[in-house]
Amino acid sequence: MPNSLDQIIRPEILELSAYHVQPSIGMVKLDAMENPYSLPEDIRIEIARLAADLPTNRYPDTSAASLKAALREAMRIPVGMDIMLGNGSDEIIQIIALAVARPGAVLMSVEPAFVMFRMIATFARIGYRGISLKADFSLDLDVMLTTIARYQPAVIFIAYPNNPTGNLFDAEAVSRIIEAAPGAVVVDEAYHAFADASFMGRLTQHPNLLLMRTLSKLGLAGLRLGLLIGRPEWLTQLEKLRLPYNVGVMTQLVVEKVLQHPDILQQQAVAIKAERAVMSECLKALDGVEVFPTDANFILLRVKEASQVFLELKKHGVLIKNLDGSHPLLRNCLRVTIGKPDENAQFLEALQASIKKPIN
Ligand code: PMP
Repeated sequence: MPNSLDQIIRPEILELSAYHVQPSIGMVKLDAMENPYSLPEDIRIEIARLAADLPTNRYPDTSAASLKAALREAMRIPVGMDIMLGNGSDEIIQIIALAVARPGAVLMSVEPAFVMFRMIATFARIGYRGISLKADFSLDLDVMLTTIARYQPAVIFIAYPNNPTGNLFDAEAVSRIIEAAPGAVVVDEAYHAFADASFMGRLTQHPNLLLMRTLSKLGLAGLRLGLLIGRPEWLTQLEKLRLPYNVGVMTQLVVEKVLQHPDILQQQAVAIKAERAVMSECLKALDGVEVFPTDANFILLRVKEASQVFLELKKHGVLIKNLDGSHPLLRNCLRVTIGKPDENAQFLEALQASIKKPIN
């Protein structure tokens, strides 16, 4: 008789709830910060033609040299910095956590933040310190600096802009954290396309700064490609943990092709930003809705009874994210991704109907 699973699986894994992906078939899907636009038809046809000749019987190029060169140019990566590719940036977070998980090591972030920082700390068996943001979602710099001094975190993750709050932190405060940190600071710029700020220019100033980007929010979420940019000293070590064929041939081919037309995703991001402005104004005009400022492709809002409004929206066929209960600062908060104009209109109409419904 084999042992029962609770004698085999680590207790902290038994306790964990899996990352929840909501069923979305047939819904207006505004829950996952995807770009609502597909690629233009001519590009899709070109990709299909190239895909037909792909050697799918062969392993992908593990160095992905030609894709990296395209990324270097498209993202204006400073000379002297290396690139590591991940199966989404999720995988990069995991690689970093595994690399620094010496006994007693600490991974630090803010709360609320992207939940995978905390979850991956558990996967990698590394201690986690999440420092609460202030009520206005800004960094609590004093507490962060004391925590750094006390716990000497091996790595700090800061999303810039932050998910799920949507705001950019004060760049000088982030720099102070980077300067005070004894280990690596990963600035996660997943939402960079929708913000007018970046730490790319600061990479050369800070030896312990690593910059993370993803193609997911830009419009290629299904392909799973994230990248980490940093000094060769860091990336040479991290590369040892990257599984050799983590980025498939199809992803390498399609991303490289799309990057040859940088205007496509860029224009889509411009359209999303314009829609974000329209959505914010419409939401602000609603009674009983508090709208938080955003530099990302989503908006955080507070309503009176978030869980009820969330369920009502679902009944209207609109799927967003309910954050009520996930952190004290997010009481009655909902997060909605910017969709196409007609999807946003459907959301606004459903929201109006949902907040008017008497609370039972
Ligand atoms: N970082 C942040 C801040 C995110 O919000 C997300 C996705 N929600 C990711 C990283 C992961 O993105 P991906 O794995 O698709 O690159």
